[in-house]
Amino acid sequence: MTSTMLELLQKYSVPGPRYTSYPTAPYFHTGFGEADWAEALATPAPDRGLSLYAHIPFCDSLCYYCGCNMVATRDYSKTQPYLVALEQEMARAAQLVDPKRVARQLHWGGGTPTYLNPDDIRRLMAMMRKYFTLADDAEVSCEVDPRELTYEHLAALRETGFNRLSFGVQDMDPDVQQAVNRIQSEFLIQQVLDWSRELGFSSINLDLIVGLPKQTVESFKRTLDRVAVWAPDRLAVFAYAHVPWMKKHQNLIQEADLPDSATRLALQEAVNESLGAAGYVNIGLDHFARPEDELVRAQQNKTLWRNFQGYTTHKNCDILAFGASSISQTADVYMQNEKSLKRYQDRVAATGFPVERGLKLTRDDQIQREAITRVMCDLELDFAAFGSEWGVSFTDYFADALTDLRPLAEDGLVRIEAGKISVTQTGRLFLRNIGMCFDRYLKQSASDKPRYSRTA
Ligand code: SF4
Repeated sequence: MTSTMLELLQKYSVPGPRYTSYPTAPYFHTGFGEADWAEALATPAPDRGLSLYAHIPFCDSLCYYCGCNMVATRDYSKTQPYLVALEQEMARAAQLVDPKRVARQLHWGGGTPTYLNPDDIRRLMAMMRKYFTLADDAEVSCEVDPRELTYEHLAALRETGFNRLSFGVQDMDPDVQQAVNRIQSEFLIQQVLDWSRELGFSSINLDLIVGLPKQTVESFKRTLDRVAVWAPDRLAVFAYAHVPWMKKHQNLIQEADLPDSATRLALQEAVNESLGAAGYVNIGLDHFARPEDELVRAQQNKTLWRNFQGYTTHKNCDILAFGASSISQTADVYMQNEKSLKRYQDRVAATGFPVERGLKLTRDDQIQREAITRVMCDLELDFAAFGSEWGVSFTDYFADALTDLRPLAEDGLVRIEAGKISVTQTGRLFLRNIGMCFDRYLKQSASDKPRYSRTA
């Protein structure tokens, strides 16, 4: 570890967005309502496929680091009115969406989708297929919590058409697991992986988290060694976002147990080293995949895109997201559903549209989003190609961004050459900071700024 790297980390560790949307979610507003969303759904978009999402907010217990919209409960009966609401919401949307549009992607997240029992897994998938057409070769994926999971859950997922799974592993060290209230043994993970492979799921992703309490480089290397043996197709290695002012339960984590900047950097370096040695390619901010994976190919072809589910190969899809707190996205609209379970269910019962807030993008928003996305996905941006696609002179339009990038170039995070910006190897750790240079909303007065997690 070089001291220069550590200095950079300390210098650039500032609150900033992860850019899973732009404008970012704090700028969605309640002036965007049901009529706006109905209009967006009914807007013809024959060239755009659909990406369906269902949010299952229930979990058996609370992981202290959790940043998701979830409800910890042992009362399974809560799922029943929720499933009814999901069906009503889908039925209402399907009345407006062109039935010829096909879903290329379907994803269940949460919460814990496998909180649903196998019969309800079948029921929810049958609903989605009733209202929407799923392409034969669609990517159909589900987030899975290995705890409380049975073979029958996985068999129900496979039987209903799921072909991809994503398991939350996070960290296998017992002290870390204790500190975050998520206990799961190696045997358990091994067993669910064996079941998944036996059932023929074609792609398995494991999630890890860097920056958890009690994490040490030595202990995390043991987790990484285990992961190399488990040999998933993809990995997402997220940086823990400690935002107790937004997620009150994160106060259950002792701040003194969180790794300091030097340890976080060493953890990140251990991840890059270990996953690199195991043959994975680093994709942008937080994803790793095998060289033959379509995410890697998409990055090489410059067709990679970033949305609320992270990096994706499905740029030209509108996301129709169902369930409490879920965020839908069309070419020029973001819409977030009611976050509270009760309000979500009440609004669906009343109108079928549980819109809490949203945003219609201006053309400027779209241009800035494209610049941020290209930098975060392609790790480079060609001024002439960008300018001709959007009908602007890149250097004029982004003169302020180029000025803001200059100190980052001096620190070796980006190269600004004739007609092109490229992210350096060092700069990969600071993609959020680079994206922030193109973010016009961040440049408004400090008093209006939302609070984000730290970038590094
Ligand atoms: S299982 Fe996932 S969604 Fe549920 S509390 Fe844990 S991290 Fe949060």
